[in-house]
Amino acid sequence: MSIAGSIAEIEKKLGGKAKLIAVSKKQPDQKLMEAYKAGFKRFGENYVQELCAKQEVLPKDIEWHMIGHLQSNKVKYIAPFVQMIHSVDSFKLLKEINKQAKKNDRIIDCLLQLFIAEEDSKTGMEKEELLALLDNPALKDFQNIRICGLMGMSTFTDNTSQIEREFNSLKDFFDKIKEQYTDLPLTEISMGMSSDWPLAVKCGSTMVRVGSAIFGARQS
Ligand SMILES: *Cc1c(COP(=O)(O)O)cnc(C)c1O
Repeated sequence: MSIAGSIAEIEKKLGGKAKLIAVSKKQPDQKLMEAYKAGFKRFGENYVQELCAKQEVLPKDIEWHMIGHLQSNKVKYIAPFVQMIHSVDSFKLLKEINKQAKKNDRIIDCLLQLFIAEEDSKTGMEKEELLALLDNPALKDFQNIRICGLMGMSTFTDNTSQIEREFNSLKDFFDKIKEQYTDLPLTEISMGMSSDWPLAVKCGSTMVRVGSAIFGARQS
């Protein structure tokens, strides 16, 4: 199916219940333009250098989402334009995002990444660490970020009941912090990729990050 066709089909199935982020990492600009020309403007990228290169040449009304692991020393490159950072995994990183957002006179939306998988390769914070971040008294001084919710990645497995368990644990934790931290604008749960987004939506996802099911296999 065409890129525009795949996007239309996924958005139809989402039925407005969750937003689609088209994950365009390691895909050529021309494929993003195909989606853009069909009216789609929300892309997710994993690598700072690639994200900046694409932002520079592609239309300026694209909404860019950073979904990959982000080092503090690279925040400055994306702070002028990034819409949302899904992969916040430390207080130090959040502090730097706030600092760079302030320099650019912007407010950057952030999601805190929770580790939910049963494997070592996936990143994110443990629950205790995430709660400690939310309890840090310095957080109230961060005027240039908004903590909008959580992001998580399930284990790479065919075992759907395990994936469902992991998605449910993210949703449960989200509900818990939403109840507890009422001063935060907690509305988003970013979970679900090409292989598991329908299940993620069933479990309460509000943002699915779908790459290969839209653009095909990535260039390595
Ligand atoms: C690559 C990536 C995706 C998309 O993966 P697909 O399986 O191609 O849909 C989603 N989220 C994150 C964090 C990724 O790194």
